[in-house]
Amino acid sequence: METKTPFIEIIDEIKKAGGDTYRMCFQCGTCDAVCPWNNVRNFSIRRLIREAAFGLTEIESDDVWLCTTCGKCHEHCPRAVDQIKLGISLRRLASSYDIFAASASAVKAARGSLVAEGNPLDEDRAKRAEWTEGLSVNPYTEDTEILFFGCCYLSYDPRMRSVAAATAKILNKAGISYGILGTSESCCGESIRKTGAEDVYKGLAKENIKTFVDNGVKKIVVSSPHCYESFKNEYSEFMVNFEVVHMSQLLLDLIKEGRIEITREYAKTVTYHDPCYLGRHNEIFDEPREILGRIPGLELNEMAASRKNSLCCGGGGGRVWMETEKGERFSDLRLEQARDTGAAVLVTACPYCISMFEDSRVTLELESDIEIKDITEVLQEVIEV
Ligand code: SF4
Ligand code: SF4
Repeated sequence: METKTPFIEIIDEIKKAGGDTYRMCFQCGTCDAVCPWNNVRNFSIRRLIREAAFGLTEIESDDVWLCTTCGKCHEHCPRAVDQIKLGISLRRLASSYDIFAASASAVKAARGSLVAEGNPLDEDRAKRAEWTEGLSVNPYTEDTEILFFGCCYLSYDPRMRSVAAATAKILNKAGISYGILGTSESCCGESIRKTGAEDVYKGLAKENIKTFVDNGVKKIVVSSPHCYESFKNEYSEFMVNFEVVHMSQLLLDLIKEGRIEITREYAKTVTYHDPCYLGRHNEIFDEPREILGRIPGLELNEMAASRKNSLCCGGGGGRVWMETEKGERFSDLRLEQARDTGAAVLVTACPYCISMFEDSRVTLELESDIEIKDITEVLQEVIEV
């Protein structure tokens, strides 16, 4: 069934949802030329923008849910159109009618879990700090210098718990004053906001901000670029301003200060994948590379699509929870690009990227060809922890 929603009403709704950025578009099509979807199927953000301008959006369409918010179109748009904002406004509209394309139905479960338990993974809030067992990680107190906010994936996902453990061991070795807020932490809300669930996002953000303020938090270190984006760029809408640092930035500082000493070789060829929300959205390109460059024996081979041109893993914008057909997964393409460099290890710095790449590694049967590592896991292997 195809619904053409009423023109004026839908235009008003899109404006109300902050999506009237379509006014700037002059339909040049540059966005479609750079959008990663057009490597795997037809998708036109330009057309979505055009339809929105006339109130002709088909809110049942799968297209409303495709954008991964990778930011590549915005990077190249000559009119600085905010395509992501427009896309979110369409999702808000679809959600307000409780309309989800089949591929996006998992978003509803993620929303429910976030409201009930503060994480999108259907896990108990009470178990949020279980990953610390046996690791000497202290609760955050007012005397602690840094809050380590590990994110939902590092807290619950079995693969990502090894990243959390590597991080704790490195921070302990460096003698950092850090702690966690455990069961008082909630998801940062970045991705659910991109699915159009503004109320769910606001609830999570307010809970976290209250927890941070009540506990006297000033400096937050995050492993996920999605938490980084939220805390640094989005929570400021609530008139708060925490110092936010990505783990790759902190680790590089610790190496430079001599608080982390690299004592072993890593005799492997690696390539580095720039996560969209660390690189394109927040321009943190150099720190992870500088860490890798300081490891003896490690050979870094860059992929052609790197830094601002990095290929999205496919997990942003809530897509990490949605179904993506075989043959349409960006992470499959990215693994092939990584292999083309001759790398034995694909290193990155984002839990979504790692989840997407690990899935592709299994479905493409590449388990014996390439490893996927977070940068903390590589570092853990070359220092005495
Ligand atoms: S690149 Fe910008 S101006 Fe050109 S079609 Fe896309 S949104 Fe419109
Ligand atoms: S943000 Fe990325 S996925 Fe979304 S329309 Fe733009 S280029 Fe395509």
